[in-house]
Formats: sequence, structure tokens, C-alpha cells
Amino acid sequence: MQTTIRSAVSFQGVGLHSGRAARLTIRPASAEHGIWFKRTDILLGDALVPARWDAVEVSPLCTRIRNRAGATISTIEHVMAALAGCGIHNALVEIDGPEVPILDGSSAPFVRAILARGTRTLRAPVRAIEILAPVHVQTARGWARLSPARPGQGLTMDFHIAFDDAAIGEQDKSLNLANGSFVRELCDSRTFCRQADVDAMQANGLALGGTYENAVVVDGDKVLSPGGLRHADEAVRHKMLDALGDLYTAGMPILGHYEGHKAGHAMTNMLLAALFAAPDAWRVVECDAVCAATLPGAGVEIDEIPAVA
Ligand SMILES: [Zn+2]
Repeated sequence: MQTTIRSAVSFQGVGLHSGRAARLTIRPASAEHGIWFKRTDILLGDALVPARWDAVEVSPLCTRIRNRAGATISTIEHVMAALAGCGIHNALVEIDGPEVPILDGSSAPFVRAILARGTRTLRAPVRAIEILAPVHVQTARGWARLSPARPGQGLTMDFHIAFDDAAIGEQDKSLNLANGSFVRELCDSRTFCRQADVDAMQANGLALGGTYENAVVVDGDKVLSPGGLRHADEAVRHKMLDALGDLYTAGMPILGHYEGHKAGHAMTNMLLAALFAAPDAWRVVECDAVCAATLPGAGVEIDEIPAVA
């Protein structure tokens, strides 16, 4: 059955790119509501923005949503990953500023709070998007693909990244997102960037809230953030976290196999646009108990959040 969070929970912090402080509150919502954001600082006009692929606008380095009245919320991907990974199907996410707080750069603070509140079961079956035929998008940078689910599995992922900096280098990871693996293996992995890019980003008004505490900063073979990495392959884990959050803008869980090769936010959004432009490539199915047990939110446990986060 569909779920929502049992009671509201709030977070306070600065946005990674804007540097602006904001308070974000995840509130319970009814069945069939889906995930919506609301700008509580916008008093005139429509402040509600759906966390949906067709409300995503192209923006560098983060996922930003916009409604027709022009209200935007930036950097929704880590809280979206937490909602997807914890199996929350319906929520109203209120925020009093333009960007989601970056917190520690991962999804772990959101996951810990959501799991501590618990979920409430609603009287409506979970629906999911079943991938029926492969959909592929490619740019000069890389590619992304959705294919039909492997037998008996829900959402599985293969991700590959390659960076010149030896501290990241080439990393591959494959994961079945069922049985709480998001909480155990992905949720604490932090956003990352190269020191060489920090100055350029800040000159362009980005990463103004970035610190060595809320992002892993690398320079060549060195990790500049104190404490080093949480996982040797933290970077590819974070890319998978981002992909889970961005895929959740499909509006429901996806039953399929996702592959990302140097993919990022924009490419995942292109992939969803290509999917929904191909009516023969997908269908909406109601999940029975067997199907529901394969979804990312099944079997998550708060004590499985890695202790480092
Ligand atoms: Zn991210």
C-alpha cells in the first residue's frame, strides 16, 4: 500500500549553491498526492511545485523544479532520494527559500529523520512504472539507459564514472535497490567536486554554500575534506543516490534496470522525457506484495544507516 511520513519533520541549513539558509519540513500527505514542494515564503501566486520530471528545468549541477508561476526549488535530489529510498509515496515538502539545505551533502540526515518518524500506510495500492522496452539517451559526456527489470527484481542500477583526479578515478558499482540497500550502501555518500572547479563555480554564483564539511573536495590524488572519504567509492555511490532521487521525479517507483555512464542530473531528466515520449516503453502497474517487496523502500531499517554519517 502507499505510505506517507507519520508526522512532520524539519531541517535547517544552507543551500549548496545559493548559500541561503532555509527551513524545510516534510509533512504527511494523503494517498494519490505524490511528492510536491511548497515555497512558504511566496505569499502571492502559486507556491506549489510538483516534484515531477516535466517540472524539472535545466540547471547546472543540481535538479531544480519550477511551476508555471515561476516558483523554483533547487537541489531537490538528495531529499527526493531519501523519500524514494525510504518508500515514502506521498509528502508535502515545505521550504521557506529557493534551495533545499545541503546538510552534510548526503541523504543520511533526511533518511534518519524519516525513519525515526516512521511511515503511515494509506488506503491505496502502490503503483509503479514498469519498463517494457529499452530507452537510451546519449550526450557528448556520457549516456543513460532504462531497460526492463531483471526477473524477480525491482529497480537495479549499474553506474560508471571516470574522473582525471586520482582521488576519484574510474569507479563502477551495481546495486539492487531492494531490501534496504539504499540505506546501507548509498544514503551516506556525499556530493563531491574538484578543487579546480570550485573557483569557477563560485565565480558563476554556484557552490556559494559549499564547505569541506558538506562536500567531498578532491585535488588530484588528495581528498581535501577533513576525515577523508566515507567509502573508497563514495563518488559513484553518490551518483547512484542522485540517480535514485532524479528517477523518483517519474512520479512513482520504477521497475527496471538503470544504467548510467558518466550520467548526471540533466541526463536522467532527458531519459525520463524520452521514456514518457515512448508510450510502448512503459506501463503503470499496481504492485502486489511480491512486487512491493522489490521496491527501494522495502526492508529499510534505521540502525542500518552507516555509523559514520
Ligand atoms: Zn548529489
